[in-house]
Amino acid sequence: MNEILSSGSAGGSASVKPQLGLGWRVLRAVGIGLGLCAVLVLGKAWMDRPTPRDLCLGNLRQIKQPLNCCIPLEKRLKPGDPIAAKDLADFMRNRVIPKCPSGVDYHIPLVAGGHPTCPYHGDLLAEDEAKSRAAAKRSAHKP
Ligand SMILES: [Zn+2]
Repeated sequence: MNEILSSGSAGGSASVKPQLGLGWRVLRAVGIGLGLCAVLVLGKAWMDRPTPRDLCLGNLRQIKQPLNCCIPLEKRLKPGDPIAAKDLADFMRNRVIPKCPSGVDYHIPLVAGGHPTCPYHGDLLAEDEAKSRAAAKRSAHKP
């Protein structure tokens, strides 16, 4: 700053300013370039990791499985018959019923054939089933 001020005679400042402006433009271009690279790299890493939604869907699958096959088969239950939370927990890792990554507890109908949903993410199992049904339909249309 001092240099500009000291050379700030009539013509001096005019010859310094365009040079300074070019330097800033180059710096800014490099900065934008680096910023874009960082965004791309971070964005790729972000896309590749499982999202909380994926983890939530995995949990819901893990909960639905014993409600729909294992426990009713083992205890000879009809659809809609009650299931104890303890019996469900027996099928979970460390006997703990998982929570949504967002921190909320799942809505779990403790009955044979129960369909768990997430209060935060919604009915991911139904969405997933609809998606795989659509995919099956698409592949069935192929010759
Ligand atoms: Zn969830």
